[in-house]
Amino acid sequence: MLDYLLNRTEKELVGVHPTVAAKARELVKKMYDEGIKIAIIQGFRSFAEQNDLYAVGRTKPGTKVTNAKGGQSIHNYGLAVDFCIFDDNKKPVWTVNKDWKRVCAVAEAMGFEIGLKWRFYDPPHLQMTFGLTLSQLQAAKRPPSAPKVEIKPVKNVITAPQESYEDRPIVPYPNKLIKKGSEGTDVMRIQRAIGLPEKQVDGIFGSVTEQRVKAYQKAHKLVADGIVGKKTWNMMF
Ligand SMILES: [Zn+2]
Repeated sequence: MLDYLLNRTEKELVGVHPTVAAKARELVKKMYDEGIKIAIIQGFRSFAEQNDLYAVGRTKPGTKVTNAKGGQSIHNYGLAVDFCIFDDNKKPVWTVNKDWKRVCAVAEAMGFEIGLKWRFYDPPHLQMTFGLTLSQLQAAKRPPSAPKVEIKPVKNVITAPQESYEDRPIVPYPNKLIKKGSEGTDVMRIQRAIGLPEKQVDGIFGSVTEQRVKAYQKAHKLVADGIVGKKTWNMMF
């Protein structure tokens, strides 16, 4: 299984900065040792590939998947990777659960910035920009080929969300009403969008979530019924 995960990862690391690639491999192995099976499923994206992705839902059929055009995603500079958890049948699992958060905490301790904390929630995304901003990257500044990355001690705690910027995905409406009694990743997204503290983000749509959704709807001049339909969802994401 570890071989499978590492091979899967390796395919995606072509064009990724050597330090980022080394850290990504290390993360896959570390997590495997902890019993969490992950692989990198996206690495470098060329400007052309990014533009193709940007066209989806705009000039090409489909639902929008990104707000970033060529050059606007950290993936275009080989400094970002996306991961996913795999089950024993080598199927990707997208549930952002305790294991997922653990992977992000370990990645963060290894020096990655994690999309899980972004306001534009992007749980698979890990990046390392070596202190460079997107504008500097766009202005053709590049990190040294073998930069030193500070390694911080591993913590389990995911702290307060942090503002981030460019690689924000557009989260398509799941085409179902999400309301009291609903469970899952979409509920977690909503709980973050309405600003519930991280420890209350449990993916279970209960009374507290319902009250906060109503307040959110009121504040955004939507029908305050506590049910997340298309309008509320699109306002949130
Ligand atoms: Zn990403």
